[in-house]
Amino acid sequence: MVTDLIARLKAEWFERLEQILARDNTIPSSNLKCLELCEARCCPREGMRRMTSEKIASAIVVLLPFEMEYLIEKTGASPNVFRRWPIDLTPDVTIEIGVLDLGKPCPFLKDNLTCGIHEHNPLDCRTFPLLPTQNFHGELEWSLGENCPSLHLLSPQFSEHMKRVWRGLYPILPQAWWDLYAFADHWTGWPVPAETVDHVV
Ligand code: SF4
Ligand code: SF4
Repeated sequence: MVTDLIARLKAEWFERLEQILARDNTIPSSNLKCLELCEARCCPREGMRRMTSEKIASAIVVLLPFEMEYLIEKTGASPNVFRRWPIDLTPDVTIEIGVLDLGKPCPFLKDNLTCGIHEHNPLDCRTFPLLPTQNFHGELEWSLGENCPSLHLLSPQFSEHMKRVWRGLYPILPQAWWDLYAFADHWTGWPVPAETVDHVV
């Protein structure tokens, strides 16, 4: 039955996420100076709408399959705080991928602009300012979040660790997820801000 298959896939992804987070306890520091140099330019929030593009490092977080459910279970977050995007995980299974953008600001960002769930934060956040991409040959490649003010400090050891994590995930992430991730790169958030609606109609 499809529900049994979804339950099995969810359990497998929860296990994977546990392993990634457990391994993170032993990895080298990223060396980023987020508190000293930044104001959470990579954490989607409503105030970003008023920022100029060069002030924003990343306006969106795309979660892995079942990472939304994992965060809900681990943090007690309301399911309503996530935007959801359906993808085909297998030919028989469609799931919803959680997304946070300027229209659904990150519920975990604290008033002091630190992350309230650092020990469980999404792999997309954890990897930034490294950005995994898929090239035209369907291979994993990397780009950098150029607007991150700590980019020049990024530890090579940390980068290599994160690349290893993504290389492990790559064979099991469906093409539909990569399509969503690439598409999301161009989002500036929903809903369309009121000040731009006039230009749309
Ligand atoms: S990773 Fe970069 S953009 Fe994000 S909070 Fe740290 S310094 Fe700022
Ligand atoms: S989960 Fe944490 S690191 Fe990720 S966007 Fe939210 S506050 Fe920022």
